[in-house]
Amino acid sequence: MKVIKFGGTSVGSSENIQKVANIISKQAKKDPDISVVVSAFTGVTNQLIKISELAQKREYTYIKLMSDCEKRHYRILKELIPNPSDEMFKHLQNEFEELNDVLHGVYLLKELTGRSSDLILGFGERLSAYIISRFLDSSGIPSQFTDTRKLIVTDDSHGHANIDYQKSARKIRRYYTNYPGIKIVTGFIAATSSGISTTLGRGGSDLTASFLGAVLKADEIQIWTDVDGVMSADPGKVPDAFCLKTLSYEEAMELSHFGAKVLHPPTIQPALEKGIPIRILNTFNPDFEGTLVQKEFTSNGYPAKGITSISNVSLLTIQGSGMVGVTGISARAFTTLAKYGISIILISQASSEHSICLAVKPESALSAKKAIEKEFLLEIKTHIVDKVIVENNLSVVALVGESMRKTPGISGRLFHALAERNVNVVAIAQGSSELNISVVVDQNDEKKALRAIHDAFFSCAERLNLIVCGTGLIGREFLHQLSENQAQILENKNLNLQLIGVGNIDNAVFNPGGISFSEWETLLVSGDKNPEPDYFLKKIKHLPGGKSIFVDITASPEISETYTDFFKAGVSVIAANKMANTGDYEAFKTLRKTCREHAVFFRYETNVGAGLPVIRTLKSLLDTGDKILKIEAVLSGTISYIFNSFKTGGLPFSRVIHEAQEKGFTEPDPRNDLNGLDFARKLLLLMRECGEGVNLTDIRIEPILPKECFSAHSLEDFYTILETHDHDFHKILDETVQSGKVLRYMGTYENGKGRIELKKLPADHPFSGLKGSDNCIVFTTERYRENPLVIQGPGAGAKVTAAGLVSDLISE
Ligand code: ADP
Ligand code: ASP
Ligand code: MG
Repeated sequence: MKVIKFGGTSVGSSENIQKVANIISKQAKKDPDISVVVSAFTGVTNQLIKISELAQKREYTYIKLMSDCEKRHYRILKELIPNPSDEMFKHLQNEFEELNDVLHGVYLLKELTGRSSDLILGFGERLSAYIISRFLDSSGIPSQFTDTRKLIVTDDSHGHANIDYQKSARKIRRYYTNYPGIKIVTGFIAATSSGISTTLGRGGSDLTASFLGAVLKADEIQIWTDVDGVMSADPGKVPDAFCLKTLSYEEAMELSHFGAKVLHPPTIQPALEKGIPIRILNTFNPDFEGTLVQKEFTSNGYPAKGITSISNVSLLTIQGSGMVGVTGISARAFTTLAKYGISIILISQASSEHSICLAVKPESALSAKKAIEKEFLLEIKTHIVDKVIVENNLSVVALVGESMRKTPGISGRLFHALAERNVNVVAIAQGSSELNISVVVDQNDEKKALRAIHDAFFSCAERLNLIVCGTGLIGREFLHQLSENQAQILENKNLNLQLIGVGNIDNAVFNPGGISFSEWETLLVSGDKNPEPDYFLKKIKHLPGGKSIFVDITASPEISETYTDFFKAGVSVIAANKMANTGDYEAFKTLRKTCREHAVFFRYETNVGAGLPVIRTLKSLLDTGDKILKIEAVLSGTISYIFNSFKTGGLPFSRVIHEAQEKGFTEPDPRNDLNGLDFARKLLLLMRECGEGVNLTDIRIEPILPKECFSAHSLEDFYTILETHDHDFHKILDETVQSGKVLRYMGTYENGKGRIELKKLPADHPFSGLKGSDNCIVFTTERYRENPLVIQGPGAGAKVTAAGLVSDLISE
């Protein structure tokens, strides 16, 4: 058998009740043994609360509101059943008569007790269940109107009565034996053993359904509402919330306890005890599978299941320097509050034991304060404990999920998300089961906090976990550009960037929960010292969900050797480091193969021409079937700068180099630029992209500097030797200028061969006009034969290189 519950949101109008009837009819065809629990029509419980409060205040307007409410019920009845019988009218008339009598009593006495309030509120369910039951009869689905005041026995805690399982179970079983068939059952209401009406608390129809289900050993309990199921957050507060396929009983309990209104908190308990699955379904999207709440936990791939909030709580702080190390203070505080019937939403104790915070409903804040101060009277007098502080207008926001138990860094990510949106955290608590982390925030920040946490944990944007190795000029600039453009990237590219690791030669940090772009530097300094090249490889066992990318902004051959292992671990690589692409050819081939096999990417646009789109262009030419006939390139910004500064009548060649070195345009030892090796590596990569199986040694490099310059041991000696050649350099330059040409150090790839040489170029050559440290690459291809394809622009500098890395990161 099944118990099916329709909430107030499903029964607001005759049109919706028709939908409900269709669902019941469909279910009854599959299994006629069903009990349907219904709530009051949409908004009726709230109206009855308002009406009774007005009556209590002797405000006569209650009569008008009551009459509207009556009219609404009659209207729905008539819309559903065109010719209602006299018996139906009589039944409703009697109900309204009784209700009006009670309200009149409240009006006269100016008193609204818990007992009369429960009686008044219960009419909502009594009326709706009756009307729906009669409507089903009239639609050919005979049903038994069932008033649960006759079946469910509770204590007399009005407003939130507790069910007596044994007594109720006996009554229910007897009733079900006597009245077989479909039943339309009132949710929410019950009665004491002496027959006084009670209610199970706001939203309590869910509990009615699950209690009935447990007693009757139902196969399934269905809760039909106006959303697709339990969502990752309240869809009214977080527009991106999505429906959860499954929840364990514990997760559902935790979510509802912390405010997910879709399930009344005590609902899970009876189902859990009997192991009955609960399914949350949408009356307005009945074919959707909804959410299944069951014993087993299943992961949905995210480190948490959902976020909830309780708006408007008060926080009591008990503090005092004398509390440190004194045992039993919290226990006494809890017992005191329990004695006064005040329920605690959240408890948080500072690790210093100097203070305890308790979140309670605002209506209990004052009595809680008084109760605690009374309990600690002595301690307050002797200054062991200070006076209790009450803070109002706060909200509790809780992140819930069983997988949080096993995932490190959750709280880090949560606080990081809040800090990034400027949400101040007033108190923090983590349930001992580690099933939830709750934070108390200002009520005005509640929505902001919910959205920030939702984005950080469940963003539908693809999550990109970044590990950045190398924090020199370019690395720094790269992180800076990302932090500046993070929001834009999220919006335009739907990518949710999370920095999870940063390292340099001295320190490294790794935090799967996320490292703030504004804090990486501070965290790095206090991070692990002297990290090994495989530091991050060892850490990536703890990768959070999403894609992960290792960005190598070092020049280290050891780091480049780790790429293959990153690929094997499913991590993509972006490299500014040229070593992997320009080392031994066999290793290069293996690297590319491993990358393909593990369906990750390897991007290295900045290896040639910094931010210029050289590799991308070459790849797209090749991919579209073009044939490369020749590549000519000026690929060393430093050498270009030197030749651009070397002018007839100007400084001697050695001085030009010296100045370039002083201005920081060269490596500390300029010979490392002038040996042409870095240039050759770039040309080598272009050749390999064209399919050439070549090595660095296959490229013929015509040196700029005379051989003996390289054997000089010190820089000083180097310059002294170079000076002796200044005259020769000027001679070459003058001859070149006189013949109307320009001197350029350029690379050429043609007929499978690569060479780099100093050439005298005609004035109309694309390289002749190059300024400063510009790079230029000329592709002569089958398609671009007459007019070669030219890419020109700054080929060095932290800003453009970092921008190239960002573009590698966000390109599709
Ligand atoms: P019913 O009248 O069907 O019992 P409720 O209004 O009690 O419906 O509960 C459903 C509402 O709960 C939804 O319309 C939604 O606004 C709210 N809600 C809050 N948190 C969640 C959540 N995590 N998932 C789904 N709904 C939620
Ligand atoms: N009608 C009651 C309420 O609004 C019970 C319920 O809907 O579950 O609280
Ligand atoms: Mg509800």
